[in-house]
Amino acid sequence: MSLNPRRIQLMDTTLRDGEQTQGVAFTPTEKVSIAKALLQNLRVDRIEVASARVSEGEKEAVRNINQWAQQEGFGDRVEVLGFVDHTRSVDWIKSTGGQVINLLAKGSEKHCREQLGKTLEQHCADVLQTIGYAHEQGLKINIYLEDWSNGYKDSRDYVFGLIDRLKDAPLSHFMLPDTLGVMAPDEVFASFSDMCGRYPNLQFDFHPHNDYGLATANVMAAVRAGVSAVHCTINCLGERAGNASLAEVAVVLRDKMNMELAIDESHLVRISNMVENFSGKRIADNAPIVGADVFTQTAGIHADGDQKGGLYKTKLGPERFSRTRSYALGKMSGKASLKKNLEQLEVELSEEDQKKVLARIVALGDSKQTITTDDLPFIIADVLESKSYQHIKLLACSVNSGLDLQSTVSLRVEVNGDKHQATGAGNGGFDAFIDAIGTVLVKYDYTLPKLADFEIRIPKGGNTNALTECVITWDCGHELRKTRGVHVNQVFAAMLATIKLINIQLHEMANTNP
Ligand SMILES: [Zn+2]
Repeated sequence: MSLNPRRIQLMDTTLRDGEQTQGVAFTPTEKVSIAKALLQNLRVDRIEVASARVSEGEKEAVRNINQWAQQEGFGDRVEVLGFVDHTRSVDWIKSTGGQVINLLAKGSEKHCREQLGKTLEQHCADVLQTIGYAHEQGLKINIYLEDWSNGYKDSRDYVFGLIDRLKDAPLSHFMLPDTLGVMAPDEVFASFSDMCGRYPNLQFDFHPHNDYGLATANVMAAVRAGVSAVHCTINCLGERAGNASLAEVAVVLRDKMNMELAIDESHLVRISNMVENFSGKRIADNAPIVGADVFTQTAGIHADGDQKGGLYKTKLGPERFSRTRSYALGKMSGKASLKKNLEQLEVELSEEDQKKVLARIVALGDSKQTITTDDLPFIIADVLESKSYQHIKLLACSVNSGLDLQSTVSLRVEVNGDKHQATGAGNGGFDAFIDAIGTVLVKYDYTLPKLADFEIRIPKGGNTNALTECVITWDCGHELRKTRGVHVNQVFAAMLATIKLINIQLHEMANTNP
C-alpha cells in the first residue's frame, strides 16, 4: 500500500516522559542543553519539557528553556504537561513563560470512574473549566486522553462521548497514548483509522510505549491510518520499556514510508550520546542507528564485499548520521577486514606480514580479548618485532592510596630513549598517575586528550582475582579513540590503556613533524 508523502511532526518528550525512567533525573542545566540540541540542532517540531507543579528546580529549568526558546522564535514549540486543576497548572506554566499546556484528561472510563470517582459528565465539566481558564490566559492547549488504548478497547462510547464534548473547545492536538504499551500494529491501524474517519477535522498525535517492543511498528501503523504527529524520546527513554526511539522513528518514516520530516539526521548520534551521559542510562551497543557497533562489520566476508564495491551497502549508511563504517578485528575477521583497517591507519604491509598479523588477531580473538582498531599498531609492532612504535615505556610505578587520603604516584618512564622520574598526586590512583605522567610529557609538547568514557570490566562470573580490562574512550577533537589495558589491578589496567594512547599520538607526532 503506497501513501502520499506528507509532513509528519515529531514531538520529543525525553525531558518529561523520558525522565520518568527509573533512576533518571536531569539537572536544570542538563535540561536546557538537551532542549537546545533538540530544537536547534536536531530540529524536532515540538518538545515536552516537564510536568507542571513538580518542583522548584524543575520550574527554574522550564523558565530557562522558555527564555531561550522565545529569543530563538521557538516559544510555541515548548510544551508542559498540566493537570485538570482549574487554575493551578496554568498559573505554574504561565509563571515560567510557557505558551503551551498539554492537559492530561482521562481517556478511559475505568480511570475516570476508579481514580477520579467521577462520571463522564463531571470529568468533562472539570476539563472544560481548565481549558476555559488556559484559553483566557492565552495558552495554546493540547489534550492527552490518558490510557486511551485501554479506553478505546473497553469503553468506546466513553472515548467518543469525551471527544464529542471537547471537539469544539479551543484544542490543537488530541494526543492518544498507548499508556501501557499494549497495542499491536493492526490494532493501532484499526483504531486510528476509526478515530481519524470519525473526526476528520481533529489533529491526532500518537504517543506509543514499547512494552512489547512494538513502538516503532505501531508508529508506522498510526501514520498509515492518518496520524500527523508522533511522540518519541531519545534513546527510547521512558518508564518500563520506554517510549519510541526518535532515531528509529525518524529513519523508518523517511525510508519506509516516504514521509517528510524536519529532523536533521546528522545530529542523532551526538544527541543520543549527550542524553546517554546525562541520564546515566547506557544504550546497548546494538541499538539501531545510535549503538556503538551498528556500523561495524564483524565477518570477514562482509568486509570483502565492501572492498569489492559495496555489496553489503544499504540505505542505512553510517555517513547519514556523521558516522563511519569500521571493520572489527577478531576471530571472524579476514584479510579484507585487516586491509580496511590498515588503510585507515595508512600502514602498508607485505602479504607475508599481513598473514602473520592476521594470525595473531585471530588467536587473540579466540582468547576472548577485545581488540580495538587502535590496538592494531601494537599487534603489528609486536608481531613484526618492530621497535619504531615504542615511544613511551612505563618502567616502574608505585601507587599509594588510602581511605580519605589523597593518592600519590611515583613512576619511572622512558620516552624516546630518555629516562624520567616523576611524582604526582590526585583524586585516586589513576588521577595521580595522570598528574605524574603529565609533568614528563609536557617536555615533549604533549597533553593528554579528555576522557569521553571509561569502562572497567571483568569477565561475567569472574572472581576477585580475575584480570580486569579497562577500555578508555578519548575525545581527540575530530575523533573518538578507544584504547584498552589489561591487568589484575584495575588502576594499572587504566595506566596501560593510557600509555597505549600516548604511544599512538607520539608516533603520529613523530611522523607528521619529523
Ligand atoms: Zn507516556
